[in-house]
Amino acid sequence: MGGLVTERIRPGVEFVPEAAAAFRRAEAQVIAEFGRPIDVNSTYRTWADQMRMFEDWSRYVAGKGPRPAHSKAVHPSESFHVSGLALDSDDWRVPRIVEILAANGFIRNRLHVPGELHHFEYIRARDTNYGKKVDDVSADDVWKYPVKGRPGGPVPAIQELADAKTAAQAVRDELAPVTRGGKRVPMRQDLADTGTLVRQVLAEQKATTAALRALATAQGADPDAIQDIVREAVKDAMRDVSFTVDIE
Ligand SMILES: [Zn+2]
Repeated sequence: MGGLVTERIRPGVEFVPEAAAAFRRAEAQVIAEFGRPIDVNSTYRTWADQMRMFEDWSRYVAGKGPRPAHSKAVHPSESFHVSGLALDSDDWRVPRIVEILAANGFIRNRLHVPGELHHFEYIRARDTNYGKKVDDVSADDVWKYPVKGRPGGPVPAIQELADAKTAAQAVRDELAPVTRGGKRVPMRQDLADTGTLVRQVLAEQKATTAALRALATAQGADPDAIQDIVREAVKDAMRDVSFTVDIE
């Protein structure tokens, strides 16, 4: 112990730099093929942590303590976990991932020990990709990058992009120009013109009614009866009006 330099890839995933580089390579490949990172149960352990596990295991074997939650733990001086070279992963059940890990030097080197199927050790001489770099972000990672904050959970970036395009098209359709008398007019202009027209019609109608009432009074007729006749006439007229608007 002491003087060991380790590299933390993410919480709970820590190796010496050589093994960390190999793990990154293997994980980039797993993400590209499986769309998820490598399952990790345990990697680097401090001497003290390993000692505690070793003592718990020794007590259990001697019949003096309960079975620990972990598998057999060796003395820290023998442990590849303490050397920052070991990986425990449930992905030992996925043959293709075992193959990817092996190509990058992570070998299941304790298969002769019962209960150690999940244990991989980094062996530089077996690392067929030693020294090769990983593009931190491959194109595949970018397309599959999960975009959060959407109802129903994260979606891959490519889906988000497609959805944004669809939404933009819907907005374009909504705001499409209106054809008025063979002329294309922006929808907002058409709305403004319609508002102006409605106000003009209302003003004219008000003026006409007032004029009719004045005329009726001057003629000695009943202005209310005249107004009712006008109302009925307007209703009839409205029945015949139909609106035609072309939207592209
Ligand atoms: Zn292990």
